[in-house]
Amino acid sequence: MKEIRMVDLKGQYDKIKTEIDQEIQKVIDSTAFINGPAVQEFQADLEKYLGVKHVIPCANGTDALQVAMMGLGLKPGDEVITTSFTFIATAEVIALLGLTPVLVDVDPDTFNIDPEAVRKAITPHTKAIVPVHLFGQSVDMEEVLKIANEHNLFVIEDVCQAIGADYIFSDGSTKKAGTIGDVAGVSFFPSKNLGCFGDGGAIFTNNDELARQLRVVVNHGMTVRYYHDYVGVNSRLDAMQAAVLKVKLQYLYEYAKARQAAADYYDNAFAGCQKLQTPVRASFSSHVFHQYTLVTNNLDRDEMQKFLMSKGVPAMIYYPVPMHLQKAYQDPRYKEGDFPVTEALSKTVISLPMHTELDEEQLKYITTCVLEFANR
Ligand SMILES: *Cc1c(COP(=O)(O)O)cnc(C)c1O
Repeated sequence: MKEIRMVDLKGQYDKIKTEIDQEIQKVIDSTAFINGPAVQEFQADLEKYLGVKHVIPCANGTDALQVAMMGLGLKPGDEVITTSFTFIATAEVIALLGLTPVLVDVDPDTFNIDPEAVRKAITPHTKAIVPVHLFGQSVDMEEVLKIANEHNLFVIEDVCQAIGADYIFSDGSTKKAGTIGDVAGVSFFPSKNLGCFGDGGAIFTNNDELARQLRVVVNHGMTVRYYHDYVGVNSRLDAMQAAVLKVKLQYLYEYAKARQAAADYYDNAFAGCQKLQTPVRASFSSHVFHQYTLVTNNLDRDEMQKFLMSKGVPAMIYYPVPMHLQKAYQDPRYKEGDFPVTEALSKTVISLPMHTELDEEQLKYITTCVLEFANR
């Protein structure tokens, strides 16, 4: 059996090596390393794929979120509502900009922000909501948009884990996650569903005016060459990464199918096991399975992780510490017990290997090991 990895970038690369190598070589030959044609081509391809008017490439997903907030003109003291169960970057950029992160609990089934909790957290200072489409499934965006419209708030989607997921509106129409709110940030970190060979990111918006502003922010706040009207940042997607992404974007649909097939295998294997809650698939979203995350029930989750590791099955805890209990984010407004769903999840979730290259032999072995622990 091939070694089991959380993410198998090597196996994925081997299948498209010729195409990728050619595109990288083209960039090297052109020496257009910054803002070269590869960047423009990838940008146009991604706009078409997502059905969004503007893709603004940048250096990573964290920058994408920060630039989105800067582009919207959010100011110190503005309150930004987000989830207590996410990767740190979401809250980090809010804090870095001097904005006030307001955390809310998540839905126990989807692990995503609970719209009712968002509603309760709104104050006269609230300016934006940052829904995070965690693990590959869209937030209940119709509810979020309704709240945003009622209170005149910006919606900044963190779509780092869910590029390609479809949100399904109640009238049956669909939109890609990340194209629904005012603006979205995505990451092309290698292990993300669309990953490059280093760091990369992008911002999406349908708003022409905002797109112009975002392009100024990522380029040192520069409006005309060497005329800086704003304090900006330097955040670029380099051309070699764009070349890789342009090739891999063509496979994104296929990659999602491979992830969904692995998830189906896991779901079937664990269906009868009372001690494992398999991922709940929301009616309003497709699931692109950035992670396949189980909730354990009456099991020692940390022992399970050790057991799996000892069998050669990597497993990860996303995320072991809720945002409000992180040392750097201690805040007198919050204490242990404030977000019971998040806190329970942080103690019970475990993510299994999930990538595009899992074969049946590996899946069989992984599920056998998981069930061996659960049933002992
Ligand atoms: C990966 C990720 C980010 C940050 O992306 P980087 O490219 O690593 O900066 C932000 N939010 C979420 C939810 C992520 O998963």
